Amino acid sequence: MQQGRPPASWMSVWLHWRAAQIKDPVARLSYLRRYASFAPKAFEVTPARAAIVTAAVTLCAVLYWPSITSASKPTPPSLSRSQAATKSLSASAPPVRQGIWLVEQKNGHEIYSNGLRIEAAGAATHTPRRYLPLPRHKPDTWTSEPGANAPFRTAPIGIVYHTTESELFPFQASSNRILQYAGAKLLEYVRNRKSYHYLIDRFGRVHRVVEEDRVANHAGWSVWADRDWVYVNLNESFLGISFEAQTQPQDGAEGLNAAQIHAGRILTEMLRARYDIPAENCTTHGQVSVNPDNFKIGNHTDLGAGFPYAAFGLPDNYRIPPPSMLHFGFAYDSVYWDRIEPQLRLSLQAGEKQLHQQALRRSDMQRRYREYIAIWRKQQEHGI
Ligand SMILES: [Zn+2]
Repeated sequence: MQQGRPPASWMSVWLHWRAAQIKDPVARLSYLRRYASFAPKAFEVTPARAAIVTAAVTLCAVLYWPSITSASKPTPPSLSRSQAATKSLSASAPPVRQGIWLVEQKNGHEIYSNGLRIEAAGAATHTPRRYLPLPRHKPDTWTSEPGANAPFRTAPIGIVYHTTESELFPFQASSNRILQYAGAKLLEYVRNRKSYHYLIDRFGRVHRVVEEDRVANHAGWSVWADRDWVYVNLNESFLGISFEAQTQPQDGAEGLNAAQIHAGRILTEMLRARYDIPAENCTTHGQVSVNPDNFKIGNHTDLGAGFPYAAFGLPDNYRIPPPSMLHFGFAYDSVYWDRIEPQLRLSLQAGEKQLHQQALRRSDMQRRYREYIAIWRKQQEHGI
């Protein structure tokens, strides 16, 4: 429990009840924001602001989420929070190599030799990670004999970066109380939803949300590829790191701050060393997200622009044409075009050229995607 947290009032209960009646997350957030416009100007913890914090994150983490994962996917018995907190690290994660090591693990935190500190107490557990990548150069096998050439994998192969898109209060000393309260509520919310593996708050603190060997609900419908493999729906195969931030901040708020970038970089270093994650598999939600209903790229656009790849010690992966386009014929619209990094626009154009040269009909590629998803659904329903 956070110090200074206000007791629940009748107004808070009423506000939450009214908001809970609104099914559409966007409409719910809009309602809460409307209410907040009548709240006091000073930045203090009010029921409306608290509710906004918990509601806003749904825009990134829950909206458009493939319904199959919550509706029909079998979930194994899960550990309680306290059990998860006491679970030893060695049971869930291999040791880090390549010059980075675990220095200390006690009192709910881990410290690594590169300066990384992880707040691990209270991390949630979920379905064990297990997935089948598709051999990139043998597309004919994707639907005829899925998995025939690839054994199940259990180690993460990449990282998807996100922003929570939650309400941001002014980053200044006089807002300290609401900043702490907002961060604590956000962490509670994403742990309950199992939304990411890590959350980096506005002070650069790294919180483990879901254990690394478990699935987190962060990427939804999504596609990525490296040199040899194509990955579809990345919750099973990629780790999710989210920053308490907005991709296109409003009201003069900043994007990722210096503390978050530093923390994100050393977390990325540790995870890449632990799992041997290739640099090309470190990407953003705005680059991997797709909408299977209209075959458009960018169902989510968080960090489709503004992710500082160089500051993370990574190549500019905005230079990679979206694999969803190259392998499954996904297209893009003007909304996506307007929200993304200029370099990513060039990559989209390069991808279109490649498609043209392949002389493969878009409709055939999209049919291949639909056929593969039908197989994927069956695998999910039967626990693969
Ligand atoms: Zn996201």
